[in-house]
Amino acid sequence: MKETAIKTLESCRQNRSRAWIELNMDALRHNVKYLQSLLPGRCALMPVVKANAYGHGAGLIAGELSDMGIRSFCVACVSEGMELRRQNIAGEILVLGYTHPDQFPLLDQYALTPTAVDHAHALALSSYACCASRQKLLPVHVAIDTGMHRLGEPAGHETQIREIFTLPGLQITGMYTHLASASGTDPASQNFTREQIDAFYQLAAKLEKDIPPCVKLHLQASYGILRYPLQNVDCARPGIALYGLLSNAADTGDFSDRLRPVLSLRARVASVHLLSPGESAGYDMAYTATRPTTVATITIGYADGLPRSLSQPPAAQELQQDRGCVLLHGQRAPIVGRICMDQLLADVTALPQIQPGDIATLIGQDGQESISAASLADTCGTITNELLSCLGPRLERLIL
Ligand SMILES: *Cc1c(COP(=O)(O)O)cnc(C)c1O
Repeated sequence: MKETAIKTLESCRQNRSRAWIELNMDALRHNVKYLQSLLPGRCALMPVVKANAYGHGAGLIAGELSDMGIRSFCVACVSEGMELRRQNIAGEILVLGYTHPDQFPLLDQYALTPTAVDHAHALALSSYACCASRQKLLPVHVAIDTGMHRLGEPAGHETQIREIFTLPGLQITGMYTHLASASGTDPASQNFTREQIDAFYQLAAKLEKDIPPCVKLHLQASYGILRYPLQNVDCARPGIALYGLLSNAADTGDFSDRLRPVLSLRARVASVHLLSPGESAGYDMAYTATRPTTVATITIGYADGLPRSLSQPPAAQELQQDRGCVLLHGQRAPIVGRICMDQLLADVTALPQIQPGDIATLIGQDGQESISAASLADTCGTITNELLSCLGPRLERLIL
């Protein structure tokens, strides 16, 4: 699989691919080792590869992590788990989200581990596990709500939680919670997070006699690992940090000497147009040239996951350096006009050497210049996680 991908990268550089993602697997391995170094030695990483591994390509990323010896993965839903199995990913696959009872047979068929999202859901899982003509126990992780109020049986419901561990047909292999504010560095967020952590461990201590020692405890996602280094954890669930990024440019910058971005996003120049002053380009006449301008058409658009909000707003005829840019020939070229579904336009007046087939960088390095996914997300008013997870299936994914 890897070798074909490398060949494809060469062929795409020879003018075939329209728009593509390049994956730097050295960076992925580096990030895994760095995150592992922050956790106790016995702690197993359960990389979160939901949303097509945050747009990177779940099969490629999980395959590389499997080669590194990782044996547990997290996904959001059953269909994502099924896709990993189709890509021959072995080991534990934990479904973090809600699984509908109609989908319970798929858990067996694809050897997926569901989350019991609360006591009622645990009962439903148990009645499925008992009545189907099943021989073995159904492995389940139990979600505990310690303050996020999204999924999980409330940590205070000791009796109900104790009962979950006694339900027939189930083998509870994990118990976890999710931190709501681990990214915040203000005192309120820190206090809230410590209260969540305390509530989880107090519950674990109270249940100690009732739960088997093989039940794995976990609570940290990326920010939890980086900001709350806990010792009493059996697993951790990093998502965004695994891909070398944090949610915004400031946090990503703080860790830029420790985490390395895995993904670059590139497209091509399709054609070049000369505009006279007063001529407009793109939809809605949103951009009008005020001087003789060269505009290049780039082969990527919002259907590929590039936010349309990157478009230069009509008022901002004075191009700001940090509104949407692409890199061409190692220089920044401002995006002009509305981003289209499959294409966008960039002002390349400063680049007389531009020609069709040239490679444009939307995320990544080109010569001395670079655009990070986190700064692009900031520019679009979103977070890195959303930007990346929207990168669509039309993009080719290539291993460097
Ligand atoms: C998405 C998710 C993660 C990973 O979060 P990051 O902030 O990307 O590391 C971990 N745990 C749960 C329950 C999640 O939903």
